[in-house]
Amino acid sequence: MAIKEQPKSPRFRIVANILLAVSGLFLLLNLFLPGLFASGPTGVPYSLFIHQVQEGEVSRVSVGQNQIIYQLKAENAEPAQVFATTPIFDLELPKLLEEKGVEFAATPPPKNTWFTTLLSWVIPPLIFIGIWQFFLARGGGGGGPQGALSIGKSKAKVYVEGESAKITFADVAGVEEAKTELVEIVDFLKTPARFTQIGARIPKGVLLVGPPGTGKTLLAKAVAGEAGVPFFSISGSEFVELFVGVGSSRVRDLFEQAKKQAPCIVFIDELDAIGKSRSSNGFYGGNDEREQTLNQLLTEMDGFAAGDATVIVLAATNRPEVLDPALLRPGRFDRQVLVDRPDLSDREAILKIHAQKVKLGDDVNLKAIATRTPGFAGADLANLVNEAALLAARNLREKVAQEDFAEAIERVVAGLEKKSRVMNETEKKIVAYHEVGHAMVGALTTGNGRVEKISIIPRGMAALGYTLQLPTEDRFLMNEHELRGQIATLLGGRSAEEVVFNSITTGASNDLQRATDLAERMVTAYGMSKVLGPLAYQQGQQAAFLGNGGANPRRAVSEETSKAIDSEVKEIVETAHEQALEILRQNRDLLEAIATQLLETEVIEGEKLHSLLSQVKPVTHS
Ligand code: ADP
Ligand code: MG
Ligand code: ZN
Repeated sequence: MAIKEQPKSPRFRIVANILLAVSGLFLLLNLFLPGLFASGPTGVPYSLFIHQVQEGEVSRVSVGQNQIIYQLKAENAEPAQVFATTPIFDLELPKLLEEKGVEFAATPPPKNTWFTTLLSWVIPPLIFIGIWQFFLARGGGGGGPQGALSIGKSKAKVYVEGESAKITFADVAGVEEAKTELVEIVDFLKTPARFTQIGARIPKGVLLVGPPGTGKTLLAKAVAGEAGVPFFSISGSEFVELFVGVGSSRVRDLFEQAKKQAPCIVFIDELDAIGKSRSSNGFYGGNDEREQTLNQLLTEMDGFAAGDATVIVLAATNRPEVLDPALLRPGRFDRQVLVDRPDLSDREAILKIHAQKVKLGDDVNLKAIATRTPGFAGADLANLVNEAALLAARNLREKVAQEDFAEAIERVVAGLEKKSRVMNETEKKIVAYHEVGHAMVGALTTGNGRVEKISIIPRGMAALGYTLQLPTEDRFLMNEHELRGQIATLLGGRSAEEVVFNSITTGASNDLQRATDLAERMVTAYGMSKVLGPLAYQQGQQAAFLGNGGANPRRAVSEETSKAIDSEVKEIVETAHEQALEILRQNRDLLEAIATQLLETEVIEGEKLHSLLSQVKPVTHS
């Protein structure tokens, strides 16, 4: 969703490509010209010159019509060394020089040959056009100024985090499981020998999976910070806009540079933008550029073997389901770390981190703020603190007050609601009963595994809340009774809504879909219907093993059989529905109690949950 792909017309691409090539050529020429025509001075790009002026490293400048010659201060270079650069028409230059206390003078125009005159008139505008086109083609200059300078040299855009901006695990709150996993990666980076000595293979790729703003980028930087290694970063969405062939060579350059600086981290943000499944491209041909880039990435990851330099690739995505399976194979991104939205106590911890940056009033209660912000991700909380500080300043307060936070929450929520991520109180209540419904029915029926966690924190992209069941053992076969139990559990959410609110919401559509699919498979693939007998009504032998879709085309059947299938499926689902309703009706008090508690804590898990669910009484028929 965050990834925009703006298709550019091919003609535009060609024009932009040519201009890029031309401007690159001229830029190169430009760099060499001073060296060619005025033997002696070292040619440098104009931007470097300006940078050196700004840093106060330049001592004397001589400004000519088509060449600037200058010397650095003694402490920055050999005193005798002279540099030359080609001026870009720049009215601000004298002002800047004066500001920085640089000694400068104009040199008399040299005897011009027709060639240099031509160049001095033609090159600067061309460079400008070239650079401008380059940025246009990349979609509005998101690349920053580094991009333009590196045209002639390496094509990889690489950021190496400076020591000053060092981020550690202390800057990341809440995502404890993810941190635990990543601590191991830090160890690998710090002391690779310890692991390679005993023949252990150091993981190459770790995929951080989670919704936007939960701190994936932050975590990756923290790993680099903790290990004290360089951090190379590149974003998948940048590749989509690139000219054909550039993406893969960027990947190659990136890894080349990374290997030179190993041990280090390569971070690929928005991996899904390049790593989309090749088969899901829709039509033949798809996006060639992306495919080449993806292939190059796979090649690079396979390329550095054990014993090689330690380069660990971290990648982030919020859409793991679209990734090409080839990326997830062993030796590539075989480790996946979930970075999920924070729960109540996590949110308080995150608020604490960000609140350190502002002056807090005495009345501020971070816990209360955390309670009021379910569904907020780390980035939303950081934003919230900043909004509150802005409001405080606007209200001419010296410190941020609780009142400012209250107002800021409203603002941020309004923004988030547009993205439909935050639930209002009524919705939250419905979701709580719904999830407890799943959990209670699941506790009584077999075949689902044990209910380990219920949560009303919105997770991932779709679910509002969720009930997590973990199998207690590996299961390969399920009997009819267990499948019926599974269907009842799926319907438990909707049944709870019916029992408590006497109404139904749209929230259960996915549950119903899955329940119906399962029932249909019982009838058409597993031969569990007495009416229809042990016949397979789905096509293809895969039908029986498909744990997910269930939407296999039916074998050609008579209208009668088709009707019979429908009615059998309906019977199974309705029986399960009745069963779920009955369980919840007979345990109504417990349903209330658990839901109330869930609304308070947002998550119930482990022992606490087990002991609550052990109180669910089996249905008695009077
Ligand atoms: P993602 O990469 O998952 O989209 P980012 O890492 O870019 O999210 O997070 C954006 C910002 O939000 C961070 O720079 C940080 O200020 C804040 N943030 C997000 N998650 C956390 C967290 N768990 N703890 C502290 N700050 C966080
Ligand atoms: Mg990010
Ligand atoms: Zn549900």
